[in-house]
Amino acid sequence: MAEKERMIYLDNSATTEICTEAKEKMLEAINCFGNPSSLHSAGLEAEKMLSDARENVLRTLGVRVRKPDDAKRLIFTSCGTEASSLAIFGTAYAKRRRDANRILTTDSEHPSVENAMQRLETDGFEVIRIPTRGGALDMDALRKALDSKSKVLMASFMMVNNETGALYDVKNAFAEIRAAYPDVITHCDAVQGYLKTRFTPAGIGADLVTLSGHKVHAPKGIGALYVNPELLRAKKIVPFLVGGGQESGMRSGTENMIGIAGFGAAAGAVYDRLDETVKEMEYLRKYTLERLAQLDVTLNIPSGECAPHIINLTLPDIKSETMLHYLSSAGICVSSGSACSSHSSHPSRSLSAFGLTPHAADCSLRVSFSEFNTVSDCDSFCNILAQGISSLVRTR
Ligand code: PLP
Repeated sequence: MAEKERMIYLDNSATTEICTEAKEKMLEAINCFGNPSSLHSAGLEAEKMLSDARENVLRTLGVRVRKPDDAKRLIFTSCGTEASSLAIFGTAYAKRRRDANRILTTDSEHPSVENAMQRLETDGFEVIRIPTRGGALDMDALRKALDSKSKVLMASFMMVNNETGALYDVKNAFAEIRAAYPDVITHCDAVQGYLKTRFTPAGIGADLVTLSGHKVHAPKGIGALYVNPELLRAKKIVPFLVGGGQESGMRSGTENMIGIAGFGAAAGAVYDRLDETVKEMEYLRKYTLERLAQLDVTLNIPSGECAPHIINLTLPDIKSETMLHYLSSAGICVSSGSACSSHSSHPSRSLSAFGLTPHAADCSLRVSFSEFNTVSDCDSFCNILAQGISSLVRTR
């Protein structure tokens, strides 16, 4: 505990601390142990908890559950990665879509989307990656990609880049794609944008939206896919986990009730204070950027809109890993890129797409805030970073 008290956690894009509301609901779920598919009272109690959580998450997406079909719009999965796999493979392999095999995406997607795209390429689909240099979607390149006779099956664009914080204009991109191909299926990986910016799936023109619990103060191991009910009706998406028919047949397997309960509670609580927390995170980001501007670092600021919680910077010829350890030994947790790419020796795809050289990408840090951070956290980070730069530059 003493160790934890000294820790300053600024790696909220990797994962977040579970909030009190989620912890309390998860405890309730531990005691409410019935299977939500069972017809007896224990099952009905669990089923109520499941539908409450679903309604809570749907509410954060601007969807009210008025009739049973409305609830089918949210499929709980084991994580954001699984939700994106279901969206991408589920639509690519739906029988009726064999007439079209072109897919549009960006060159800076999270591996959960990029690696799914690579799998589709080996299966004969044509994947076109729209550049995101400087942190904005290249709309001219997008229009060029639309200028073709072969039909576009799907467009999968992330909302917020997990390494740079760039907020991509998916709404305009999806609108232009749909104008050219009315049957296109649009998917948005909103894992880093969810509960950091207000949006609704209909508002951004997305048929499918990926969410992840652990980025919004819920536990790890729970995610969800929002699905446009029209896709379900027309069977334009097929499940790949088949079995007992849970989640309206779209994701079989007994539900992770503790995770789902925690996700519903966290999503509802964070949503209810969203305007306030976004303002706070925006303030911390601005304050930290101003302090960082006084140091010998390069700020990798997206040219367009930004999410309120992410800062990316390049150090003066100090490897990010070296600085990460220096900061960590002082109790400060930041990241050297996304948590996933930190296991890889390749330079970050997102930072390369942004325009950084492999060397600069290798010397970059990501700082990411949550509603639990304070100005004092930002001051401590900037102070220790400044010390680190002068001592590590000397020993280089
Ligand atoms: N998409 C983005 C943009 C992410 O940042 C992440 C996690 O870092 C994911 C998807 C994967 O989410 P999960 O960890 O729930 O699988």
